[in-house]
Amino acid sequence: MPISTRARASENDSEPARKRLKIEDEQPQAALQPEDAPLGLAARSEQLWFERGDVIISAVGRSLKVHADVLSRHSDVFRGLLSEAALAALPESLNGCPVLRTADRGEYLEKLVGIVYDGSNSNWFARKAKPLPFAELRGVAIVASKYNVQNVIDEAVRRLSFYFPSLRARFRSNLDFNDQSSQPLRIVEKDAVAVIKLAKLLKAPFLLPTAYVVCALIDPEYQVKGVAYEDEVVKLDDDELKLCLEGHAELMEENTHVMSTLFEDPSHPSYTQCDTALKKLLHMAMKDGALAEPDPIFPVQAWFQRKYKDKPDAQPCQLCQYRLEEMMDRRQAEVWERLGGIYGVVPWPRPPERDGSP
Ligand SMILES: [Zn+2]
Repeated sequence: MPISTRARASENDSEPARKRLKIEDEQPQAALQPEDAPLGLAARSEQLWFERGDVIISAVGRSLKVHADVLSRHSDVFRGLLSEAALAALPESLNGCPVLRTADRGEYLEKLVGIVYDGSNSNWFARKAKPLPFAELRGVAIVASKYNVQNVIDEAVRRLSFYFPSLRARFRSNLDFNDQSSQPLRIVEKDAVAVIKLAKLLKAPFLLPTAYVVCALIDPEYQVKGVAYEDEVVKLDDDELKLCLEGHAELMEENTHVMSTLFEDPSHPSYTQCDTALKKLLHMAMKDGALAEPDPIFPVQAWFQRKYKDKPDAQPCQLCQYRLEEMMDRRQAEVWERLGGIYGVVPWPRPPERDGSP
């Protein structure tokens, strides 16, 4: 390292520069090889900087010193990038340790490599850990896909399928889970935009229909302008936006079909109490916009219970209640079967044994 550069670096009190100098100071006698030039490495990972590691991976904002063999064991992409020949050909090194530069977000690459090192002890695979923030799942899934770390990809898909299932009984269109603490993800509706991208990246198309359904219900601002994750905006492309809008129209139509159950006569037309109750239910549905929602697969029983609570005289007899719920449920089940067709996903629903429960 030229003296002038070393002097410049020592004047710089930024964290990476200071740490880099420290490692050089630890080995003052070791002659620096010509390629041990100042590298401008990103800040070192606190957890993943092994002094006996044999490769430094420098990503955006974070650098790791790790073991090529460990990463190669879990990823064919790392196996190629970190083979002996590939490491020998890298143009940069620090104190003899080859440096691989990547454009990955260091924060997420660090998490991915941490998961690989920790294996089943990682939080990522813990069934009862706190829910993962969606942004973290997304960030890690993107690097896991790039390096083809299959068990991490599978786990990301498994967690996403909790909210975007192909099994109708598991679906809740508002993602409003009461007990968030035991859920696999902390996610909100607008994240559905990014889920559409992830479903494609992770080759999990069965996540798409319900992701589009949720997307149809979010603020058009997010549909058109995208959703921000730190400094990155994830935006639907033209084809996805078209599918989202066309799907919206189809879902409205399907919803009309489901809600039209309320227009039908009660099971026993002579019983005026039920006739009146049905009219009240219909009136309430019109008033709160339930006839104009692109949501034909909302949980029907919960909807009725809310209405009966608001207006007890809108509650028809047991027989009529059963008939209404049963008929709406049957129509919703038919809509569910059609979602794959609406969003171009085959097979749909996918075989249940592959719809892993979290
Ligand atoms: Zn009745």
